[in-house]
Amino acid sequence: MKKILIIHAHPEQQSFCSALKGIASQYFTEMGDLVQESDLYAMGFDPVGDKRDFKSLSNPDFFKYQIEQMNACKTDGFTEVLKTEMDKLVWCDILIFNFPLWWFGLPAILKGWVDRVFAMGLVYGDGRGVYENGTFKEKTAFITMTTGGPEVAYTANGNGDPAVILYPIHHGMFYFAGMTVLPPFISWGPARLSPEQRINELVRYKGYLMSMDTLKPIYTNR
Ligand code: FAD
Repeated sequence: MKKILIIHAHPEQQSFCSALKGIASQYFTEMGDLVQESDLYAMGFDPVGDKRDFKSLSNPDFFKYQIEQMNACKTDGFTEVLKTEMDKLVWCDILIFNFPLWWFGLPAILKGWVDRVFAMGLVYGDGRGVYENGTFKEKTAFITMTTGGPEVAYTANGNGDPAVILYPIHHGMFYFAGMTVLPPFISWGPARLSPEQRINELVRYKGYLMSMDTLKPIYTNR
């Protein structure tokens, strides 16, 4: 039995991106796995990392975010919202970021989740290694993403190679933390598709989930 955490970042519950989240949630539940979700817009998650992350500050005179994160890890000093998200992160075997591509990156609400939850002292730093010595070697992570543009627009001469666009997430977040990183599932331009083509995309995603164990990781330490 696997423990799945889906971090979902779309402001519309009826969106196609939200439907993909629903497919994963249903699939893993039917497989007998445990699923937790952080639906960031539904939660009203505040993406701004600052002094309000902490119950108290070790140095109230000069705010240094990472120092306060390390201190809070040792003193149970994070606010309840963050503590809950960090507990979910530590708990999971598989982490999924489910989001629409916004300005070639994560929607701010999800970027802010990473800023605040991938804390120094929890994920890295304070004696913890990174990459091949990363804290979360036993975890697997992948991206499930929708775009506005079609796949043909994502070439080196156009919008750019998706591997390059997603490098900050794959390398700088997931693999930085030591996780095995699977190739992303990208649904290209769902708004451009017919209803039938969109249904096929949902089926394709279920196929991706069913074949996860056979996918060649982009990064792995295992
Ligand atoms: P939706 O419009 O929600 O879905 C498409 C259609 O699918 C809708 O008609 C919906 O009703 C239907 N649908 C929903 N559920 C189902 C279901 N179960 N079965 C069948 N049909 C269903 N795009 C880029 O390519 N690159 C960028 O850099 C980029 N930057 C952006 C920045 C911002 C700030 C914004 C707002 C958008 C940006 N976009 C960009 C576009 C964005 O990525 C896409 O609009 C988004 O990913 C499309 O997915 P969606 O889920 O929102 O589509």
